[in-house]
Amino acid sequence: MPDRKNVYLHYVETDETKHKVEHLRELGKKYNFHLVDHIGDANIIASIGGDGTFLQSLRRTNFQEDCLYLAINDDHLGFYSDFDLDNLEGIEEAMKTDMVEVLRYPLLEVTVDGQKSFYCLNECSIRSTVIKTFVIDVYIDDLHFETFRGDGLVISTPTGSTAYNKSLKGAIVDPRLASMQLTEMASLNNNEYRTLGSPLLLSGDRELVLRIVQDGNDYPIIGADNEALSIRNSKEVKIRVADRQVKMLKLKDNSFLHKVKRSFINQ
Ligand code: NAD
Repeated sequence: MPDRKNVYLHYVETDETKHKVEHLRELGKKYNFHLVDHIGDANIIASIGGDGTFLQSLRRTNFQEDCLYLAINDDHLGFYSDFDLDNLEGIEEAMKTDMVEVLRYPLLEVTVDGQKSFYCLNECSIRSTVIKTFVIDVYIDDLHFETFRGDGLVISTPTGSTAYNKSLKGAIVDPRLASMQLTEMASLNNNEYRTLGSPLLLSGDRELVLRIVQDGNDYPIIGADNEALSIRNSKEVKIRVADRQVKMLKLKDNSFLHKVKRSFINQ
């Protein structure tokens, strides 16, 4: 990272993190990194915390294309963080040697009612706020694919496939495959109502359109990763794999497959 030296830190300040961040700042100085107060001055954005904090840091900094993102955990290992705030020696070693690489992760671009657009790194979820089956017409490109009735739908990225998607029995997807996966939350399937009933992996050049059937139950919550959007009475949600990707600094010997194995199979 010879020409990237301006670092913006995203973290929740507590007495403990304050102290640890001071050590990190000292380490950075040794390698000529500067902490900056404004995102506009940064070319590296580092979050300190778990996966949830990293997802928040992307949203708060608006998924900067020109910046390199880096996640440092301060408690237990997350899926996005490769660095540990309690192991400054490890961070230093990674900076000095050739142990790091930059990976690009696919994002989703979501547009609600043709107006508000936003990105997601894990997933976009859509569900009802009332206790009544929620009806969505699902279109893939121009094809009316199915009418969904149930609790809601989750559309995940490859890196998000190990999160909410996995709990819904979706497949784990290699992040090298720019794609999106549609999974159902408790769909009704009987002689009257029918949906695919299994996860559906779509190529990166597809467009998914969800039309919320206006039957008095048209107050969905739309979730962008770990944030609920306050858009009431939405009618149409378009989702596609974004042209933009997130650039992340990672350790070479801690790949996506290493993490999947460590988290779900064995240590
Ligand atoms: P958090 O850091 O507390 O995350 C909650 C848990 O999800 C943690 O164990 C975290 O490591 C894990 N996680 C987050 N992203 C992951 C990923 N890409 N792969 C594997 N594990 C991942 O913060 P949070 O704000 O609660 O996390 C938001 C995420 O939680 C959402 O994006 C969604 O994917 C997930 N979520 C899951 C469920 C579910 O499984 N039923 C329900 C709601 C949200």
